[in-house]
Amino acid sequence: MSTTQDLQTIDRTNVWHPFTQMAEWVQQDQLIIESGKDNWLIDTEGNRYLDGISSLWTNVHGHCVPEIDNAVQEQLGKIAHTTMLGLANVPATELAKRLVDILPQGLTRVFYSDSGSTAVEVALKIAFQFQQQAEKGDPNRIKFISMQNSYHGDTIGSVAVGGMDLFHATYKHMLFQGEKVLSPYCYRCPFGKEKATCDHECFQHVEDVLSEHGSTAAAFVIEPLVQGAAGQIMHPEGYLAHVRELCTRHNVLLIADEVAVGFGKTGTMFACEQENITPDIICLAKGISAGYLPLAATVASEEIYNGFLGKHEEFKTFFHGHTYTGNPLACAAAIANLDYFENNNVMEKLQPKIAHLQNRLNAMQELEHVGEIRIRGIMTGIELVKDKGSKASFEAAAKIGHRVCMEARKYGVIIRNLGDVIILMPPLSISLSEIDLLCDATAKAISTVTE
Ligand code: PLP
Repeated sequence: MSTTQDLQTIDRTNVWHPFTQMAEWVQQDQLIIESGKDNWLIDTEGNRYLDGISSLWTNVHGHCVPEIDNAVQEQLGKIAHTTMLGLANVPATELAKRLVDILPQGLTRVFYSDSGSTAVEVALKIAFQFQQQAEKGDPNRIKFISMQNSYHGDTIGSVAVGGMDLFHATYKHMLFQGEKVLSPYCYRCPFGKEKATCDHECFQHVEDVLSEHGSTAAAFVIEPLVQGAAGQIMHPEGYLAHVRELCTRHNVLLIADEVAVGFGKTGTMFACEQENITPDIICLAKGISAGYLPLAATVASEEIYNGFLGKHEEFKTFFHGHTYTGNPLACAAAIANLDYFENNNVMEKLQPKIAHLQNRLNAMQELEHVGEIRIRGIMTGIELVKDKGSKASFEAAAKIGHRVCMEARKYGVIIRNLGDVIILMPPLSISLSEIDLLCDATAKAISTVTE
C-alpha cells in the first residue's frame, strides 16, 4: 500500500492534471482522496472534507450511495461492456426510455457518448448534418451562433462554440468560425446598464444577431439559465424563452447544453423547464450517472432524427460513435440515479435547502470584497472584487479565488474558484447543517484572504 508521500511523489512526477498550471501544482502538497461517504470526501490521511462542488457538479446524491453502488455491482455481475455498433444492451435501452419520459416533451432520440464535451460535439454534428441533408434542412446553414462567456467543453467543436478567452483563445486558428452573442452578464452588463436603467438591451441584441446571421446558422448553442464555468452567470428571466422564440422564427435549431445545469441543480430537473421550452437538441452529462461513471447523452427531436433516415447508399447515416458509447455499467448507474431521484423525492426535499442556502448567502453579501452573489437552485457563484463601488477586479497574480479555496480546506470544505468567482455547488443531498458549514467556511476563508 503506497503512503501519502509515495502517492504525492508519483503525482508530481508522472501525472498531468487537467486545467492546472503544473509548475505551481508540483510546489503544493497534493490532497489525495481515497474514499467518499455521503457528502464527504476522505483523504489518504483520514481527513474528512465536505464536498462543496459535488466533485465537479456530478455527484448529485453524494458518494457511495448504496442503491447506486448495488445497481453497478449487479450490472458488473452480468456484463461490464459491449459495443452499441451492431448490438443493443439492456441498460442503455431502458435508460433511453427513462430519459425521454422526464425530458421536455418532444425530445425522443437518445445518442450516447462519454462526457459533456462529446455530448456537445455530437449535437453540433447532428445539427450540421441535418441542415445539409434533411428535407427540412438548408445546406446554406453552416454556422453556429453561441455566446460569449459560454463553456461547452474542451474538444475542438465544443471549444469553437465556447466563449471564454482564457480557455479558448489559444486554439483560435484550429476552430471553425461562428457568431457570438454578448453574454447577458447583469453585474458587468456589456451594454453598460445597471438594474435601474436596464431596458433589456440583451434581448434586442440577440434578436439583432439572429436577424443578421439567422439565415446562415445551423444552430444556436446555449447553456440554459446559467453560464456555469464562466462564473455562474445567471441570465435574466425570459432570456431563454426569447432565444427559443427567435430560433423558431429564423429556423435555427436550438441546442440546450444542460451538462452543468441538468439533473436538479437549478431547482428543477432540467433548466429548460423553468422557461417552459423544448430545445431541438439537449446535451446531458455530469449528473446523468450521479458521478459514478463517464456517460453523456445527446437527445434530439423526432424531426431531426427523421432527417437521417434513408437507404444505406444515400449516406444519410450519422457516422459517429465512441467505443464506450452506451456502456452498460454507466447506464445502470444512470437508471439507479433516476430511481433515486424518484424514490427519495429529491426535488421536493431540495426546495427548503435552496431557501436556507439563499438565506445564508444573503448575509455573506455584507463582506467587504463580495461584489455579487448569484444563486439559481443550488448553483452559486460568489464574485469577489477589489472594490465594490467600481467593481474593480483583483490583480490576476494575487490569485484571490484560488487562495480562498485553499483556505476553506483548513475548515474542512472543498470548493473551487473560477478566477475570482467562488463556486458552491454541493450535492442535492446536502443537509441544512452541512449548508451552514459550507457557508461558514466560505465566509471565513473569504474574510481571511481578502483582509
Ligand atoms: N458543457 C457545460 C455547460 C459544462 O459546464 C461542461 C463542463 O463543465 C461541459 C459541457 C464539458 O463537460 P465534460 O467536462 O464532461 O467534457
